[in-house]
Amino acid sequence: MAPLAARLAQLIREAGPLTLAQYMTLCLHDPAEGYYATRPALGAGGDFLTAPEVSQMFGELIGVWAVSVWDAMGRPAPVRLAELGPGSGALTVDLLRAARAEPAFLAAADLWLVETSAPLRQAQAARLAGRDLSFADSLDQVPDGAPLIVIGNEFLDCFGARQFVRRDGTWLEHRVGLDGEDRFVLGLSPPPSGLEAPEDAPEGAVLEISPAQEALAEALGARIARDGGAALLIDYGRDRFAYGDTFQALAGHRKVDPLAAPGAADLTVHVDFPAVAAAARRGGARTAPITAQGLFLRRLGIETRAEALAASARRSGRADLADRIGRQLRRLVDPAEMGALFQVLAVHALAGDPPGFADPPPADDAEETP
Ligand code: SAH
Repeated sequence: MAPLAARLAQLIREAGPLTLAQYMTLCLHDPAEGYYATRPALGAGGDFLTAPEVSQMFGELIGVWAVSVWDAMGRPAPVRLAELGPGSGALTVDLLRAARAEPAFLAAADLWLVETSAPLRQAQAARLAGRDLSFADSLDQVPDGAPLIVIGNEFLDCFGARQFVRRDGTWLEHRVGLDGEDRFVLGLSPPPSGLEAPEDAPEGAVLEISPAQEALAEALGARIARDGGAALLIDYGRDRFAYGDTFQALAGHRKVDPLAAPGAADLTVHVDFPAVAAAARRGGARTAPITAQGLFLRRLGIETRAEALAASARRSGRADLADRIGRQLRRLVDPAEMGALFQVLAVHALAGDPPGFADPPPADDAEETP
């Protein structure tokens, strides 16, 4: 088979320029050469560092969250515990370790990993060796008929978005075409009819719409409304409507040209959380207020957890480790780092919002316990 770039070029010659969403999907998910199919590029040696790779505290707190949601659901058995796009498997490993405090939850949890990438499935199976688990290509394949607890960290951003630009009082769509020398270039062409977009947008405004993110959220909302349970979606994104171009490519922790080497870089757009939440509600579920990751983690007690870990490190003479835990904490919660850019959405069918989304505010002025 011709390399991915040649196949994309052929597709464009035959059918015309691709929407950004189509281009992203082909680059990320081509079964032979797509980014996720070919490079499990996670962690410090990879292309980007996610929260579960930053610190074990992230998955542990989500484990505590899951147990408390399960309790609020009436302790159902079985409960389908599904992670969407588990990457290296770190989050689920940390979640299960924290959940050991509640053996009945672990016994009830029917663990599903929703993962399309073959190399990542292998890495996840190895990381979770000894634990019963099943793989699925999509949430639809996870058997219904039991309530769910679903976690998706940096999952929604893998779904492409279309991009529209306001020019001379009308909307045009960004599409990927070819220039005279067969290089990929972004061009503007008239949008499809029926585009729902504000007509009072300022000149030059960029509007991103992700039908795929919304479709996933609506299906998730419908599933949770039917079977019960809760889902946590965490991603970098906006917590309110905003214009802006957020399409980017990362390779080796650096921003690169997203059109330069199809399949070689991680392509993402910021998640449009208000649109995702509205789609989940259309599906029939409830949503908790969109909450910044830093606030969410502090409400779940990350500062106390970090202090306990650091104290134990200091007791064993590991001042370096105690410092590292402090840095990890700041990385996850500081508004200048991941704390404000990342948002958390809960989609649920519970009587009240799950932990982390409601007052009381975090105990940021709490006295340090000696
Ligand atoms: N949640 C992990 C990894 C995030 S990277 C972490 O926080 O570290 C995105 C993950 O989603 C990868 O495992 C990727 O292979 C998977 N993925 C991307 N698109 C997918 C899709 N449509 N269906 C299932 N898995 C997908």
